[in-house]
Amino acid sequence: MLTRDEIYIGGTWRPPRSTATITVISPSTEAAVATVPDAADDDIDDAVAIARRTFDESDWRWRDPLERIEIVERIGDAIEARWPATAEAITASIGTPIMVARAMGSGSAGVFRSMAATAKTFPFIEERHGFERPATLLHEPVGVVGAITPWNGPVYLLATKLAPALVAGCTIVIKPAPEAPLDAFALADACDEAGVPPGVVSIVTGGLPAGQRLVEHPGVDMIAFTGSDTAGRSIMATAAATLKRIELELGGKSAAIVLEDADLATVIPQLVPGTMLVTGQACALLSRVLVPRSRHDEIVGALCAGIQMLPLGDPFDEGTVLGPLVSARQRDRVERYIALGREEGATVALGGGRPAGMTTGWYVEPTVFTGVSNDMRVAREEIFGPVVSVIPYDDEDEAVAIANDSPFGLAGAVFAEDRERAFDVLRRIRTGVCTINGFGLDPGIPFGGFKGSGIGREGGVEGLRAYLETKAVFDTPAAPISTA
Ligand code: NAD
Repeated sequence: MLTRDEIYIGGTWRPPRSTATITVISPSTEAAVATVPDAADDDIDDAVAIARRTFDESDWRWRDPLERIEIVERIGDAIEARWPATAEAITASIGTPIMVARAMGSGSAGVFRSMAATAKTFPFIEERHGFERPATLLHEPVGVVGAITPWNGPVYLLATKLAPALVAGCTIVIKPAPEAPLDAFALADACDEAGVPPGVVSIVTGGLPAGQRLVEHPGVDMIAFTGSDTAGRSIMATAAATLKRIELELGGKSAAIVLEDADLATVIPQLVPGTMLVTGQACALLSRVLVPRSRHDEIVGALCAGIQMLPLGDPFDEGTVLGPLVSARQRDRVERYIALGREEGATVALGGGRPAGMTTGWYVEPTVFTGVSNDMRVAREEIFGPVVSVIPYDDEDEAVAIANDSPFGLAGAVFAEDRERAFDVLRRIRTGVCTINGFGLDPGIPFGGFKGSGIGREGGVEGLRAYLETKAVFDTPAAPISTA
């Protein structure tokens, strides 16, 4: 078993003040795989103090942005070089199938590289002509950033905050999820190797109290958060007391609309991973599938057949696509929703139980509900597991109305042979990202949600701007007001 007994404070590994520890349990074997520090308020205070001092007093924010951009590029290289061992740690700690965990490496490195590319052409100093007078706009770092992440996007979700913070000239304190702290250690090592100056980055493992301390801390200027909408609401309320800037990437209940003319040879190979990737534990998955009533049975049959073919098992087996859920608590939650769907009158077309013979590990069968109406809780609430609801519609207006009738608005897809028609439909959906005939994201393209899915965007220029304040500088005073 791995023991990490230090936290990374301002670029130095040191013992925490807290004596508490977090035990990381393997979701597939249920055995302890690691212990890491469970930081106390004092540890967060230390990290914020160093970040504050470094931001206020060092030359970090005054350096040529190119210097910071090169550091960010080097972190991308360093994390990629560490990825084989990091992928193993991810599989051991959160049960992500090894094939998927390996593939996450280039995506995570890509976040650093794409933000570096964006920043290279970003005008940190910009000339603007106003209504009456010219001004120079200085895009300055927002200050000390507190970043809080969930477990399901190891390194990637830390990178979407670290990369823009660094190129902007901020300092940052990161608190990763207690379920998945191991990849954060790899990221700290990568920061060291890339030559991040002392004081700029702290990575402190801990649970809810450590996160809360970071949010309420008066020394923090901005909170960048990815996680549940419940936590997002609480963070927004707490951050209001100190008027922190906030960036919230929250949950989703995204709809895939299959139009009448869609070709199932296109739909199914996209819809199967689009509903089941990371064993259903990803925010942007298409957990509601809206199908024309006339094609309901055909599409349900093909979708179930496609999902059934996904190998489920030990996440360390090379062929495994569906692993266990992250924790016993998460499996309980998913099973409660499956029971609720039955109570609400939905029909289980596939799965609905635990896989036969798998008595160790937090596995559930991939589950497809049919006969779902959009007012059922299984259609409204984020389940965060391999459970998909198929909802029939009669015409496109109804499909759009169902897609929009959700507290969330994170992702979506429209499947059709007629791409113009697909485009017309997706324009009417209130969601942050949408794909024609597919599923997928890009670290260089802004990602974030409408409505209850969050506030702000990560990635691209929009993702960088979130870490900047704008200062307007007038070279000349306004004409004096005449008193004659
Ligand atoms: P969670 O909200 O329970 O926890 C996320 C992180 O926030 C953890 O580090 C936790 O310790 C911390 N935290 C929780 N409550 C807090 C509070 N009140 N104050 C400060 N910190 C707090 O989420 P989870 O179960 O780890 O992750 C799953 C959720 O994350 C899902 O809802 C999923 O949709 C969402 N998610 C969203 C995106 C996105 O980009 N929109 C990406 C991945 C996951």
